[in-house]
Amino acid sequence: SDVPERLALQLTDVSFAYEGQTQQALDNVNLTIPAGAHVAVLGRTGCGKSTLLQLLTRAWDPAQGQIHFNDTPLMQIGEQALRQSVSVVPQRVHLFSATLRDNLLLAAPGAADSELSAMLAKVGLHKLLEDEGLNSWLGEGGRQLSGGELRRLAIARALLHDAPLMLLDEPTEGLDATTERQILDLLAKEMQGKTLLMVTHRLRGLADFDQIIVMDNGKIIEQGSHAEL
Ligand code: ATP
Ligand code: MG
Repeated sequence: SDVPERLALQLTDVSFAYEGQTQQALDNVNLTIPAGAHVAVLGRTGCGKSTLLQLLTRAWDPAQGQIHFNDTPLMQIGEQALRQSVSVVPQRVHLFSATLRDNLLLAAPGAADSELSAMLAKVGLHKLLEDEGLNSWLGEGGRQLSGGELRRLAIARALLHDAPLMLLDEPTEGLDATTERQILDLLAKEMQGKTLLMVTHRLRGLADFDQIIVMDNGKIIEQGSHAEL
């Protein structure tokens, strides 16, 4: 298949402005992420963190600059190969009005129930299995999830997708410190050897990340390890 086992990212002079905006959401960003690196992206609200992640899913085309996945320009990757290469936990998670099973299978078609249940346990959502198990209906006409549950469901979904690159946009927002630690440990373990890019607001818990990037006003203003920053 066209999906690489390991994925390095390279952004070269990438700038981007949303339609109708004069201000650049990303302003001449240069970034190299080796295959298998775990990178955290920090910065104030509105500085361009989500935009950076979204460009990597090809939600928008950069007006200037190049993005490469390994040696391949992002623009040249087929739609299906791209979807299989990248797992995403978006800032606003979408819950489908469907069973718990189908909410997970979306990311991992064909996964066995046992696999789905095991992943729910790993993200601390085994409670969701209590009454009707994977058949329980979520969303409209069914069970609503708390913000933290919704995020963990999205993390389970993304891990089940099992791609060489994972993009997470504030996945631990609204989680208590203990649960956050568990999720960060889980990501470190499950994504070992795979590339991970995580947007967050807190420096807390990032000691194990290979690189921390700080953005401001669409630019990368600092880059280094936890100890360096
Ligand atoms: P936060 O921490 O609040 O999530 P962020 O760092 O993720 O912020 P972005 O969502 O990337 O910030 O937004 C960067 C800039 O682009 C902001 O000024 C924002 O208002 C603007 N912006 C974001 N999305 C759009 C859009 N769809 N259309 C127009 N402007 C947008
Ligand atoms: Mg954002």
